[in-house]
Amino acid sequence: MNSTGTDDPVIIVGSGIIGLATAWHLSMRGRSVLVIDQETPTGSASRGNAGILSLGHPPLTQPGASIKGLRWMFNRNSPFWIRPRLDPKLLQWLLNFHRHCRRDHLEACMPALSELGAQSIGWYEQMVRDHSIDCHWDRRGWLDVCRSEPALEQARRTAEMLKGHGFDSTVLENGRLQELDPAYRDDLAGAVRYEDSATMDPSAFLHGLEQACRDRGVRFDHQARLERVQLGDHAISGIHLEDGRNIACSSLLVAAGIWSSQVASSIGIKIPMQAARGYHLQLRLDSSMPCIGSVLNESCVAVTPMGDQLRLAGTLEITSINAPISRRRLDQLVRAASLYIRDIDGATREGEWAGLRPCTWDGIPVIGGVPWIDGLFIATGHAMMGMTLGPATGRVMADLITGTDPDLDLSMFTADRFGRA
Ligand SMILES: Cc1cc2nc3c(=O)[nH]c(=O)nc-3n(C[C@H](O)[C@H](O)[C@H](O)COP(=O)(O)OP(=O)(O)OC[C@H]3O[C@@H](n4cnc5c(N)ncnc54)[C@H](O)[C@@H]3O)c2cc1C
Repeated sequence: MNSTGTDDPVIIVGSGIIGLATAWHLSMRGRSVLVIDQETPTGSASRGNAGILSLGHPPLTQPGASIKGLRWMFNRNSPFWIRPRLDPKLLQWLLNFHRHCRRDHLEACMPALSELGAQSIGWYEQMVRDHSIDCHWDRRGWLDVCRSEPALEQARRTAEMLKGHGFDSTVLENGRLQELDPAYRDDLAGAVRYEDSATMDPSAFLHGLEQACRDRGVRFDHQARLERVQLGDHAISGIHLEDGRNIACSSLLVAAGIWSSQVASSIGIKIPMQAARGYHLQLRLDSSMPCIGSVLNESCVAVTPMGDQLRLAGTLEITSINAPISRRRLDQLVRAASLYIRDIDGATREGEWAGLRPCTWDGIPVIGGVPWIDGLFIATGHAMMGMTLGPATGRVMADLITGTDPDLDLSMFTADRFGRA
C-alpha cells in the first residue's frame, strides 16, 4: 500500500477538472501527490468549456437521443454531427450508444449523477471561498431558453423530472424572461430557470485550484507525457514517461480525459470512448450582454457571461482525436445565438477554442479502481458533465485511493464494466 512519504506519491495523469479535484481532496488529507500532464494547461477540455454547473444534467444517452442524432447527421449546421470514417470501434460505439438510449437506463443512473452534482456545488463553494479563486463565480443559476412552444413544453417536463431529484426550477413565460434578462429577443417562447446551479470561467477556476493545490504541497509537471504504465505482480509499480524518466508509485489515477482509453487499453482494460469535439467563441458585445448563463434549447449553444465578455460554447462532433477543427462550426455558434439574443451578430471575437469531451457508450462516467490491478484507479468519461460532477468525483476518487468508503452507490460507474481490452 501507499505510504504518505514523498517517495511514494499518488500519481495523477491529467490536470483537467477530474485530476485537479482529486489532487485537491488528497492534499486535504495530507497525501503526497504528483500531477503530470502532457502539455501546457490550455490543452485540457476542462479549460475552455461553457462553465455551467447544470446539476441533474441527464446523460447523453437520453431516450430518443440516438434517433434525433441520426436525423441531425444529415444537417451540417446541426448541434450534433458525426465525422464519417470507416472505423469498427465507432460503429460498435454507436450501436451500444443507441442501445443505452432507454428510459430505464436514464432512471437507473439519475440518482447517483444527481447526488454527485449536488455534492459538487458544495465543494465548489468551499474551493472558491477558501482559496479566494477569482473566476466570475455566479450562483444565480442558468436558463434553458426556448424559441418554440414544443421545446418549452419538453423543457418543462425535464424540469419536473429534475424536481424529483431535488433540483428547483421556475418556468418563465409571457415576457418574464425578458424582464429578468432584456438581452433576449421578444419572439421566444420562454425559459426554465434552474436556481440551484452556478456558472464560472473554468480556466480561471482551474488556475486558482491548481495554485491552491501547489500551496498545499501538490507537485505538478506539465511537460510530462505518460508513455507506459509499469506493472508488478497484479499491482502498479510506476510509470514511464516519454522523456525517458521512470517514476515509482503504488497508486496511480488515470484522469486523462479522452486519452484515458489509450492508457487503459495499453494495460488490458477496455474503456470504449469517442471524442465529442465542442467549440467556444469568446465575444465582446457593444449592446447589453445576457447577465445569467443559459443554454439555447433548440441549438444546444451554451451562453456564459464572464466579466465583460460572453462565451458561446457548443456543438457535439463525434470525431477522431486529431481531426482538424471546423470553422463552419465556430461560425454556427453566432448564427444560432442570434436567433435568441439581440444584436449578437456584430460582436467582436476575442478568442476561439476547441476541446474533446470523453464520451462512453452508456453515457455515464467511469469512476473506480481496477479490481485485478492493485493501486490503479480510473476517472473519465464525464462527457458534457465534467465540470458539474468534477469536485464530487475527486472526493470519491480520494476516498477510493485512501481506502475510505465513498458512501455512494458507484455500481453503474465501475472501471471494469466494459471488460478487458
Ligand atoms: C465545448 C464544451 C463545453 C462544455 N461545457 C460544459 C459545461 O458547461 N458544464 C460541464 O459540466 N461540462 C462541460 N463540458 C464537459 C467538460 O469540459 C468535460 O467533461 C471535462 O472537462 C473533462 O475533464 P477531464 O479532467 O476528464 O479531461 P480533460 O479536461 O480533457 O483533461 C485531461 C488531461 O489529461 C492530459 N493527458 C492526456 N493524456 C496524457 C498522457 N498520456 N500523459 C500526460 N497527460 C495526459 C491532457 O493533456 C489533459 O490536460 C464541456 C465540454 C466542451 C468540449
